[in-house]
Amino acid sequence: MAHLQFLVKPVSSLCNLECEYCFYLDLATHQHDKPRKMTREVLSLLMDRAAEYFIQDPNDKDGTEVTANGAATADNGSNLKIIDGEHSVSFLFQGGEPTLAGVEFFKAVIEEQQRAFAKFNGRVPVFNSIQTNACRLSEELVSLLSANHFFFGVSLDGPAHVHDAMRFYKNGRGSFDEVMKGIELLRRYHAEFNILCVVTDIVVKHIAEVYAFYKDHGFYNIQFIACLDAFATMPPHPCTTDPKPSAIPFKAVEQAEHYHDCSCASNSSSDAADHAPHSCGCTDNATALRVASNTPASCASDAAKDASAVSDGKRFLSDEAYSEFLVKVFDLFYDDLINKGEYVSIRHIENYIALLLNMEINACNMTGVCRIQNVIEASGKVYPCDFYAHDDFVLGDLKDNTLAQIMNCQRAQQFVNTSRIENGSCLKCDYFKLCRGGCVRERENNVNIRCAAFKNFFAARLPKLQHAAAILSGMQG
Ligand code: SF4
Ligand code: SF4
Repeated sequence: MAHLQFLVKPVSSLCNLECEYCFYLDLATHQHDKPRKMTREVLSLLMDRAAEYFIQDPNDKDGTEVTANGAATADNGSNLKIIDGEHSVSFLFQGGEPTLAGVEFFKAVIEEQQRAFAKFNGRVPVFNSIQTNACRLSEELVSLLSANHFFFGVSLDGPAHVHDAMRFYKNGRGSFDEVMKGIELLRRYHAEFNILCVVTDIVVKHIAEVYAFYKDHGFYNIQFIACLDAFATMPPHPCTTDPKPSAIPFKAVEQAEHYHDCSCASNSSSDAADHAPHSCGCTDNATALRVASNTPASCASDAAKDASAVSDGKRFLSDEAYSEFLVKVFDLFYDDLINKGEYVSIRHIENYIALLLNMEINACNMTGVCRIQNVIEASGKVYPCDFYAHDDFVLGDLKDNTLAQIMNCQRAQQFVNTSRIENGSCLKCDYFKLCRGGCVRERENNVNIRCAAFKNFFAARLPKLQHAAAILSGMQG
């Protein structure tokens, strides 16, 4: 059985926004490669590498043969054999802002997938999703992606005054209005989507209002993600002995392509619109991806300024606020479930409930062990996790390595194996079954930096969490 997953970065860390807390822009300062758009060649190679992963080694007698009509047959040596079991592959396109890659890029994604996976006759289903700030969604792109069953994750941190505090354009203007227009478009095309909210102090301060806002707008599928601290200020991953990751001076990406969007240009991700003139009066007449050295002075953003505030070591989510968040958002969820018979899907709460019910979950930050997520940078380099897309952690390159080589290399094995908690206070903790030490990116000396918040939440709300689990398992039964 193989369920392959890829996090694909079509334009690396490039983005039309300059959100204050952007962790990927922070990480990109630790990559030597320039941010750029993924070429058709790399895209095609990705699909080939993914497909070949499912093909049985010809020297291996096991495996299931697939005939032209897709039926599994006994081996007669004449047809393609795929590894035994159930399989699937999922591609999550994210960034930066993946829609900057343009409609033509996504047409190519669909074509290359169909080409590479046609040979399996449907025995390896392919799933696609895209995580977007939704500001540049065009009819052309939404109709293409929804017709091809892409699932959309939309980044929206609540009502305008909360969202715009962190998610803004380079000129400081908030992006809320464009996000809501993007969502309107998704609805018009009946696209499936959920909401991703980055939890910061300001979100926590207004959490009841944020939650009510989501419900008022019919957003009942929500994923809250704790805002990460700067990479350079975090404890090192246990697989490395370096006290701190090697920081590449920002100069290394200074000559990279930059994206400028002051939000005045056409709200569209069509390739033609990428070259539309600005209406704000700025002299930049090309909002397309371009090389910084060609950037007109009026729009040129100082490369140093392009490094996010995260890399300055700012913390946007205090431990106290996170503690408050866990309790308050659960109380809102619980009140809806128990007193109003209304179910709001909140990813981390669902995962806690699943763990209580001894069900499997696939969120590695809640299983206690790192997983190789196959982050595919635009260059074709592969990294283990979105939070470690850093030169110190490169697992290989699609041009040089098969996926099996990449996923089984020594560095990948170390990344996973060293993430297991084998000693320390977590093993004696009453809540280990539910917490499992949290995401490794936030662990120091085997304990999560948000440990006090987790303990406070479980101590205060475990009986209600169990009650919710009992109700929901009864509903399922
Ligand atoms: S660092 Fe966190 S998100 Fe990344 S693989 Fe490890 S547990 Fe998962
Ligand atoms: S609550 Fe703290 S001690 Fe307990 S498992 Fe989580 S991180 Fe470890």
